[in-house]
Amino acid sequence: MKRLERYIVITGVIHCQTGLRIGGTKEGIEIGGQDNPILRHPITNIPYIPGSSLKGKLRSLLEQKHCTERLRGGEPCGCGQEDCLVCRIFGPHKNTRHSLGPTRLLVRDASLTPESEAWLRSAWEEKGIDFSEIKTEVTVNRSTGIAADKGLRTQERVPAGAKFDFEVSFRVFEGDNEKQLVDFFMEGLNLLQADYLGGSGSRGYGKVKIENLKRTIVKDRPAEENAEKNSQG
Ligand SMILES: [Zn+2]
Repeated sequence: MKRLERYIVITGVIHCQTGLRIGGTKEGIEIGGQDNPILRHPITNIPYIPGSSLKGKLRSLLEQKHCTERLRGGEPCGCGQEDCLVCRIFGPHKNTRHSLGPTRLLVRDASLTPESEAWLRSAWEEKGIDFSEIKTEVTVNRSTGIAADKGLRTQERVPAGAKFDFEVSFRVFEGDNEKQLVDFFMEGLNLLQADYLGGSGSRGYGKVKIENLKRTIVKDRPAEENAEKNSQG
């Protein structure tokens, strides 16, 4: 078993350049509610980006660039090979017979920045906009060129301009090439900015800019040593 040497924590801001749509569930929505609601925190009702959405998107972009010949039938890469950074960092999908060690990347849920939360809260108080915008889209009948019967549908999305704080944590094990792992992740972030997050990207949703990137190294010091350090102020 390899030793866990340290964590590298990367934080930053996901700045929505266009409306962001990460779908929620229709369960519990009363009649007259949204056809296509966004995901919200169950208690505060404030939208957030689940770590699984961000992780899944980064993984799929990096796979499309680096793993096309290893992918099988639309499934995520599970080759488990030593040279596969996708499997090493994100975990070898469904493959339990590999020697890559634990998944290196942990992606936290991303919450609205305090400023964005205040901004959207004031929109809610002033205009009754519930942390989101409702976009109506029209389906056009191909042969007549006019809006199809029942062609109107609404989509809920987080408005452009909203910012979310994100955080990921890399577990660095003995023998890991730390720079290679982090560089690969950064490549994923660059691809994400050229692509989209959430749904309906081909229709303009989900363009994001990554800002304020910061990197912190957290050594796995023994607990007593940490306590000592803290007491010294
Ligand atoms: Zn792989």
